[in-house]
Amino acid sequence: AKREEAEHVVIFPFMAQGHILPFLSLALHIEERFGFTVTFVNTPLNIKTLRPSLPPHSTINLVSLPFSSSDHGLPPDSENTHLLPYPLMSRLFHASLSLKPSFHNLLSHLIHLHGYPPICIISDMFFGWTVDVAADLGIPHAIFNAGGAYGMAVYFSLWLNLPHLQSDSNEFSLPDFPEVSNIHLTQLSQFLMGADGTDDWSIFLQEQLSLSLKSDALLFNSVEALDQTGSNYFRRKFGGRVRTIGPIRTKLRQEKGGNQDFCLEWLNTHEPSSVIYVSFGSQNTISASQMMQLAMGLENSGKNFIWVVRPPIGFDMNLEFKAKDWLPEGFEDRMKETNRGLLVRKWAPQMEILSHRSTCAFLSHCGWNSVMESLSHGVPIIGWPLAAEQFYNSKLLEEEVGVCVEVARGTRCEISHEHVREVIELVMFDGENKRGKEMRRRACEAKEILKDAIRDEEGYKGSSVRAMDEFFDMVLSMKTKTKFVGNG
Ligand code: UDP
Repeated sequence: AKREEAEHVVIFPFMAQGHILPFLSLALHIEERFGFTVTFVNTPLNIKTLRPSLPPHSTINLVSLPFSSSDHGLPPDSENTHLLPYPLMSRLFHASLSLKPSFHNLLSHLIHLHGYPPICIISDMFFGWTVDVAADLGIPHAIFNAGGAYGMAVYFSLWLNLPHLQSDSNEFSLPDFPEVSNIHLTQLSQFLMGADGTDDWSIFLQEQLSLSLKSDALLFNSVEALDQTGSNYFRRKFGGRVRTIGPIRTKLRQEKGGNQDFCLEWLNTHEPSSVIYVSFGSQNTISASQMMQLAMGLENSGKNFIWVVRPPIGFDMNLEFKAKDWLPEGFEDRMKETNRGLLVRKWAPQMEILSHRSTCAFLSHCGWNSVMESLSHGVPIIGWPLAAEQFYNSKLLEEEVGVCVEVARGTRCEISHEHVREVIELVMFDGENKRGKEMRRRACEAKEILKDAIRDEEGYKGSSVRAMDEFFDMVLSMKTKTKFVGNG
């Protein structure tokens, strides 16, 4: 489906790894499928770290906007949320507003260079202000959301309807959500718990989320058939502007690291469908006491496991993991001697683990990428959401998709090792237990749905392929109206 070579698209994610990497995968996908020229915009240090991730054949232009974190009361070189402690994070969000004039200038420059405007800007819900910049220059605009539609629908609704949180009970209903059950206070992130409309987070998010909803299109890294309540929520409000275009497969070059072969060799020593994979994503960890209980639950379950371990809350995440301090006495040695469990420090080859025939369940924080990756391999999920919209992802997967059992919620909850063992048994053992079987059946169904959505063959295009094609048809038809708007 190659079109005119000279058409260009500008892509601009928020400064967080969980945004930048999916946006870069989207950029590569657009470059490959449509042959458009892509300009990928961010702050200098983020751009610098991205170069090695691009495949050699990519001609994506990586462009930096000037930004100095110390101008905004942040530590030097803090251009990404994962480098900041929670109390300073909102400062980076507010600092990002300062990018507006230079982003405007960049676009004017691009218009001048090419002789006509980009066919669209694809930006981030935290950069709602880019909608204004696009409108000012007559360029079509889209928001890309790396999360699922349901998680985002609840997230938007919570931030844009804060008074609903001032309820006396532990549960409350959300406006505009006729079809889902209530939200429980334990499903609110720590930012939402402290939000009253006047705090830094509310001020930033209410404005940027509202602005972002004025975009010409809302794109989700999700598949409609698995994410109907959320898609319907946005569609009721925004009609045809909503498009589910996922899962966007990553083609980024990733550092393989020493753990890659090690994990796969270990998995090879185990029976098919006998290993549970445990990981809380790239930036979350659990408390010390939860870690103890999880370890005991895993050990008592008698099942094999690979666990990506990070220091517990309260310790620097980049510190070395001390199994002797943070896990039951002799745990790691016992697991090694019996070949029962493998502790992986910091980073594991997740995709390879999920696609290995020995893996049969994923104890996950329910970050959306992990969810898509797990279901793409037909692996059911044991949910332990820890932050942000992970709570609603877990809810969707358990209540609507039927592929998940939530074992725990948040970093403050008390969990017992007995409960961990029970849930593992529920999901992994057969026999009388119908729920585990049903979850596995549904996970296999989800795998087929995800595969079908991105099928792109002669005579057949899956729902996500069509949604993406329709989106570009739309912006190209808008272009014919805006082409002669101006030259910078
Ligand atoms: N990931 C990985 N190895 C790890 C931890 C994470 O490969 O040890 C990858 C994982 O495959 C996924 C991403 O990092 O693509 C994590 O994204 P997700 O949305 O699940 O969670 P987040 O890290 O944003 O909380």
